[in-house]
Amino acid sequence: MALVDPGSTSDLRARVAHAFEQRLGRPPTVVGRAPGRVNLIGEHTDYNGGLCLPLALPHATYAAAASRDDEVLRISAAAFDTPWEGRVADLAAGKVDGWATYAAGVVWALADEGVTVPGLDVHIDSTVPVGAGLSSSAAVECAVAVAVAALAGRDLTDDLRHVLLAACIRAESEMAGAPTGGMDQAVALFGAPDSALLLDFDAGSQAQVPLHLAGSGLALLVVDTRVSHALTDGSYGDRRAECDRAAALLGVPVLSRATGWEGLADPVLARRARHVLTENRRVRDVVDACTAGDWPAVGVLFAASHLSMRDDFEISCAELDTAVSTAVEAGALGARMTGGGFGGSAVVLVPEERVAAVQRAVDAAFVQAGWGAPAYLLAVPGPAAAVV
Ligand code: ADP
Ligand code: MG
Repeated sequence: MALVDPGSTSDLRARVAHAFEQRLGRPPTVVGRAPGRVNLIGEHTDYNGGLCLPLALPHATYAAAASRDDEVLRISAAAFDTPWEGRVADLAAGKVDGWATYAAGVVWALADEGVTVPGLDVHIDSTVPVGAGLSSSAAVECAVAVAVAALAGRDLTDDLRHVLLAACIRAESEMAGAPTGGMDQAVALFGAPDSALLLDFDAGSQAQVPLHLAGSGLALLVVDTRVSHALTDGSYGDRRAECDRAAALLGVPVLSRATGWEGLADPVLARRARHVLTENRRVRDVVDACTAGDWPAVGVLFAASHLSMRDDFEISCAELDTAVSTAVEAGALGARMTGGGFGGSAVVLVPEERVAAVQRAVDAAFVQAGWGAPAYLLAVPGPAAAVV
């Protein structure tokens, strides 16, 4: 059954470089590549000082770039018709709108960090589905960031990756107005093959968690419901505000430091807090289960996480609930919605020989419900952002 192809890095590098040259009449100086991601578990925990466990997808965004002598920034993309053009010095929150906000925001935020070039041409191509909860936005930001850093003559050390991380988060939250918590950019810049990345947003620490699914005959299948979410439409921000209120009422600086939710009289805030606190626990438990190779336990934790997001955090939707329940009925060990919610994708832990059966069952359930067909891809952990 059809799967969204991640493509090979060398083919996609050649494709974006060729398109750049066609548009601009000269080859690019660098091509930055950054992956999309799927979060295994730990949803809406990043901005609450909690834990999450994303992995870098093999699907990635490629940004071909070259410096200009003048101060013009020109951004085009294979997926969007109208290029954006402006002056680097004029970049500011509210001054760029439309799809190019994310890419332009990185140039703006990096200039603030002293990583800068006078002017710049950028062309973007990608195999990360857009708006599917697989973080195409952070893939754009991080691909542009590594390209700009290379043009500015900077080596991609770990220290520089942290500078790029901060700039990409600012691009998304301050320029694009999507108040996301930093998980997406962190895994795009620090993910690794054969691993998931455990992020602790209170300690500010990260650790690679080896993930050898194929050796156990298992796959991670992503179901993109194609119900598009928009993280800038307010629902995501509403959840953030509720969590901040809950933390304030519990007298903690971030919700993840609370020891319980019983002190919250408001039942909605109590449910929000219960999701965050139980989800943090599940992240630890999934890490332990992955380390022990106890995949049925991972499946049980996925199921609990999905129910918590559906009932306590209220960020699921009918299409995601159907994808999750149908996948499990068709032989998956577990499934859960992944990403910010309100649409987007589900991640399914499934024996390799059941992948096609799960796809068929979910397709049939969507037809039955009168919904459009989902898309599918395999989440095999790949490398972090780099110049390619
Ligand atoms: P996602 O879950 O995919 O991150 P977002 O709504 O956060 O969804 O980000 C989608 C936005 O990111 C797009 O509207 C566009 O502005 C930008 N973007 C994503 N992919 C591309 C691309 N291939 N080319 C240009 N911009 C892109
Ligand atoms: Mg995004």
